[in-house]
Amino acid sequence: METRGSNEPVCSFCGGKQLGLVMDFGDVGLAGAFLKPEQFAAEPSFPMRLHFCAACYAVQVTDRIPSEIMFRNYFYFSSSIGTLRDHFRDYAAEVTKRFLDPANATVLEFGCNDGVLLRPLAEAGVRTLIGIDPASNVVATIDDPRIKVINDFFTEELAREIVVRHGKVDLILASNVYAHIPDIQGTTRAVAEALHGDGVFAFEVHYLGKVIDELQYDMIYHEHLYYYSLLSVMNHLARYDMMVFDIKPVPIHAGSMRFYACKKSSKHGGSVSPAVKALEAKERARGFDRYETFVEFSSAVAAHRARLIELLGELRAQGCRIAGYGASGRANSMIQYCGINHDHLECMIDDAPAKAGFYTPRSHFEIFPSSVLDCDNPPDYLLIFAWSFFDEIRKRNEKYLAKGGRMILPLPELSIFPRAVTASPDAALQQGQHGTSK
Ligand SMILES: [Zn+2]
Repeated sequence: METRGSNEPVCSFCGGKQLGLVMDFGDVGLAGAFLKPEQFAAEPSFPMRLHFCAACYAVQVTDRIPSEIMFRNYFYFSSSIGTLRDHFRDYAAEVTKRFLDPANATVLEFGCNDGVLLRPLAEAGVRTLIGIDPASNVVATIDDPRIKVINDFFTEELAREIVVRHGKVDLILASNVYAHIPDIQGTTRAVAEALHGDGVFAFEVHYLGKVIDELQYDMIYHEHLYYYSLLSVMNHLARYDMMVFDIKPVPIHAGSMRFYACKKSSKHGGSVSPAVKALEAKERARGFDRYETFVEFSSAVAAHRARLIELLGELRAQGCRIAGYGASGRANSMIQYCGINHDHLECMIDDAPAKAGFYTPRSHFEIFPSSVLDCDNPPDYLLIFAWSFFDEIRKRNEKYLAKGGRMILPLPELSIFPRAVTASPDAALQQGQHGTSK
């Protein structure tokens, strides 16, 4: 197993030192750190490595950014995507029906953001709702007397205070935050502290199986520390006398998983769902408990990078102009890992007007609003970094496509849309695929 010398990393979950290197991105900028030209000279970069823990199977980014730098640089662009709102409304309805007697229930969410999940729970009549989030500008938008907002990190100390004030909590929620917490052990101790003996801890995170299946290496960045499999979650929670009793795959963010957990002594603990047993068996069969599986993933990612760079080079050699579409953290991860530069792309395009005029970290592509595609001379190709929203993007850019514009989808399969009958770029792509297929 490949490890590093004296300052070898430690597993965030179990404290173990048997970490196998999966991917080394080298020195990269923070994926969320969009910037202005006057900031280029002082732009920081940081090492970024992805490791697998042979002791507890956790897949994790082990290089940490000092929080003051992370917060100074981190750009949060809130998305008011309708599908997300619907998702949280359905989620609230499900947990209310399954686990709550609303008139007597206490529910806590850490990383509550703008209250998108708490609000439908308030409408369902839940008695006590506590929202915790360290981002003051985000929680300030909640402004709902039914929700008690605590502008802080969820720590053991805070958990004890909450129990004194409100009693043990029936349902603890965490959506897309459990993968971003540096002190995952402290936060999990806080969960165990606050949770009622028969309470439920439900959290949604991006699922490692999706990352592997769809080669989603663009999901890997400093802000996103952990990539959860069921096996790693089971090992992690067992250290706090907790267990997973149900799971539910959810389609948001190109493949998340909701884990329903409880204390081992809980009434829920006796009935582990068939879905949990099936996924556990599947993950063992797929080798999510073996380092070699992730070495294979890393090789497949390297092959994907080679094919993508080959395709971009081929198109540029034919005189085609290419722009990136979707200036997200995911885009920045792919750009930096693949070494996509100004020989490949001329700029980035994004639907969020707030990003216009900023530049991507390290690669320094200027970001333009999507209205630039209405010009007389748009780029021939768009490289769709926001590939998981492709259906939405395709519909939104019908005019561009009708004028002959084409789109390159990097993942889950490198492909061009629409496919041409005779044009050579597809031939180049086919060649690339055959050249590197397993
Ligand atoms: Zn570990």
